[in-house]
Amino acid sequence: KKAARRSARSKKAAKEMPSLSSPTKVLFVDDGITKQDVWNYYTAIMDYILPEIVGRPLSVIRCPVGTAKACFFQKHHTAGMEIVDTVRLKEESGSQGDYLVVREAAGLMELVQFNTLEFHPWGSHAESPDRADRVVFDLDPGPGVPFSEVKKAATDIRSKLKQLKLESFLRVSGGKGLHVVVPLRPGCDWELTKRFAKGFAEALAETEPDRFLSKATKSLRNKRIFVDYLRNGRGATAVASYSLRARPGAPVAMPISWTELSKLQRADTFTLKTVPAKLKRRRKDPWEGIDTLKQNLSRWARKPSGR
Ligand code: ATP
Ligand code: MN
Ligand code: MN
Repeated sequence: KKAARRSARSKKAAKEMPSLSSPTKVLFVDDGITKQDVWNYYTAIMDYILPEIVGRPLSVIRCPVGTAKACFFQKHHTAGMEIVDTVRLKEESGSQGDYLVVREAAGLMELVQFNTLEFHPWGSHAESPDRADRVVFDLDPGPGVPFSEVKKAATDIRSKLKQLKLESFLRVSGGKGLHVVVPLRPGCDWELTKRFAKGFAEALAETEPDRFLSKATKSLRNKRIFVDYLRNGRGATAVASYSLRARPGAPVAMPISWTELSKLQRADTFTLKTVPAKLKRRRKDPWEGIDTLKQNLSRWARKPSGR
């Protein structure tokens, strides 16, 4: 009933699915994967991805002429998008911007119709953009770092977070690395969240400088893992679980359990072709409980750093 009232008030028409144009257009050039295939993928996994993006300001990566040519990262609403919702938010510059917000399947599929391959939500919701409800430690291995080292880094970070009474969840990025995700409930302001994430990354780099790096400088990354804490800030994003990646093989950013990690060979093993069947077989959501867990950073609020 509540939803009906809301849509009655909405200036936009009922949320009908958009129609798909150019279904045979090849979007993943190396793999012959078409726009129809991408549409079918998101249709198949809709119930999994929606909870990860609904209500959050969202950036997308669109590839209108496929992954061979320039794809672009889009933060704002653009002309022609009529189903997907928007939220007007203050920009860093001080002006206002209309950010994309998916509310339901039709909004997501409209973005697919606009050749979106990747979905990148904020770590906060549209109605409380200043309150972070997810911390993401994005582990970015430099050249020469074996994947086994990235796995070890993730489990070590999980243990360190546990010592701080924080449970964490694991995602395979679909690219080169892993993401360790800490849910916050109730949420924390970005100043505290950023300070915590930065302090945590810097502590790792100071204690084990041969393994970890907390500076984004690419030239310093050789044989070390950059603990990218910069995903944690107002307006910063990380790829959504179940999103495709615009990379060869059409890999998927996939949440996995900590026990699955030991068998994992690489970060891009789950793909558009394998994920729908894997989800059908899966008995338990590896991220079960992530949105009900009560934990946050309030105990760090008055300390000089999040260590
Ligand atoms: P990998 O495992 O290969 O590192 P990743 O998704 O973690 O995959 P990163 O390059 O580490 O990739 O992280 C980039 C993140 O920064 C993206 O997930 C995205 O949400 C965000 N981002 C911000 N601006 C951009 C941009 N212009 N283009 C791409 N990503 C951007
Ligand atoms: Mn990364
Ligand atoms: Mn990164």
